Amino acid sequence: MENYRHTKVLIIGSGPAGYTAGVYASRAMLEPLLIQGIEPGGQLTTTTEVENWPGDSEVQGPDLMIRMENHAKSVGCEVLSDIITNLDLSGRPFVATGDSGNIYTCDSIILATGARAKWLGLPSEEKYKGFGVSACATCDGFFYKNQEIVVVGGGNTAVEEALFLTNFASKVTLIHRRDELRSEKILQDRLFKNPKIETLWFNQVVEILGDKEPLGVTGVKVKNVKTGVLSTLECKGVFVAIGHSPANELVKDVLKTHMGGYVITKPDSTETSIPGIFAAGDLTDHKYRQAVTSAGMGCMAALEVERFLAETK
Ligand code: FAD
Ligand code: NAP
Repeated sequence: MENYRHTKVLIIGSGPAGYTAGVYASRAMLEPLLIQGIEPGGQLTTTTEVENWPGDSEVQGPDLMIRMENHAKSVGCEVLSDIITNLDLSGRPFVATGDSGNIYTCDSIILATGARAKWLGLPSEEKYKGFGVSACATCDGFFYKNQEIVVVGGGNTAVEEALFLTNFASKVTLIHRRDELRSEKILQDRLFKNPKIETLWFNQVVEILGDKEPLGVTGVKVKNVKTGVLSTLECKGVFVAIGHSPANELVKDVLKTHMGGYVITKPDSTETSIPGIFAAGDLTDHKYRQAVTSAGMGCMAALEVERFLAETK
C-alpha cells in the first residue's frame, strides 16, 4: 500500500553529507526526513580505521557513521530505511518514490547520494564477482586467510585495502598502471614497509582467470602497459579499488553534471540548476571526496535550504 508523506526538506543519502545536513536542518526546525538508501552510513561503513576525522585520531568507519546517525536522530531528524527509485522534479512539490512504495512530496531536496565503486569492465570480472572478485576488503577480506590476493589501483582506497588485507592474506600484490601512487604519503610509507605486500608497476589486469566448478578465481592475466607483454599471476582474490563514480542515476537527466557525472553546483554553494534542489558530498565533488568535506557540504546545503524555504514561503 502506498503511503504519502510530505516534508519541507527531503535528504537522500545517509553518508557524512546526509547526516550532517540532517543535524543542521533539524536544528533549524525544518523537521527533515532522511532516506538512508541501500548503504546506511555510506562509504565509510566499508572501511576500518579512519584517521583523518577531526577530533578522533582513530575511529572505525562504521562506528563513526552510527554516531552520526544517532546525532541526527537526537536532534529530531527522522531517518527512514528506504531507497529512492524515482524523482520527479518537474513541478512543485517535488515527488520522490521509494522502493517501499512510499511517495514523498517535498518543498526542497538535499541530494547526498555519494559515490559507488568503479569496476574494470571486464566480462571475466562480472563472472567472478562475489566468487573471488570484490570491491570491499572489509566485507570480504576474511575469506582469504593465508591466500594470495591482488589489489588493483593506486589511490588511497587501493593502498588501504592492500594494508588491511595483509591481516588475512599470505601475500598481497598491488597492481598499478603507473609507477607512482596517488595515495597519501603516510599510507605509501606503510605499504612499502609491509613485508607481505609486493607492487607490480605499469600493469593492467586484462582478464580474471578462474575455475568453473566450484566457481572461483585462480589468477589474473596482466599486460605491461609499456611493453605490451602479457603475464599471469596466481591468486585467489582480486580486489578492485580503482576509484568511485558519482551516484547520479536519479538526476543525471535533469541536473547539469560535469567531469564524469558529478552534479554541478553554483560556486561556493550547494545549489544545483533547479531551485530548491541542493547537492552535497561526493555526488558533486570530483576533487576532494573526503568525509570531512562531504560533511561540510551537508552543512552548507541545510543552511541554504533554510534560506530558500524562508524566501519562497
Ligand atoms: P556516501 O558516503 O557515498 O553515502 C551515500 C549515501 O547515499 C549512502 O547512504 C547511500 O545508501 C545513499 N543513496 C545512494 N543512492 C540512494 C538512493 N537512490 N536513495 C536513497 N539513498 C541513496 N574519507 C575520509 O575522509 N577518510 C577516510 O579514511 C576515508 N576512507 C575511505 C575508505 C574507503 C574504502 C572508501 C570507499 C572511501 C573512503 N573515504 C574516506 C571517502 C569517504 O567515505 C567519502 O568521501 C564520503 O563517505 C562521502 O560521503 P557522502 O555523504 O557524500 O556519500
Ligand atoms: P582515486 O583516488 O580516484 O584513485 C583511483 C586509482 O585507480 C588511481 O590510482 C587510478 O590510476 C586507478 N585507476 C582508475 N581507473 C583505472 C582502471 N580502469 N584500471 C586500472 N587502474 C585504474 O580513488 P580512491 O582511491 O577510491 O579514492 C577516492 C576518494 O576517496 C579520494 O578522494 C580519496 O582521497 C578518498 N579516500 C580517502 C581515504 C583516506 O583519507 N584515508 C581513504 C580512501 C579513499 P591513476 O593514478 O593512474 O589515475
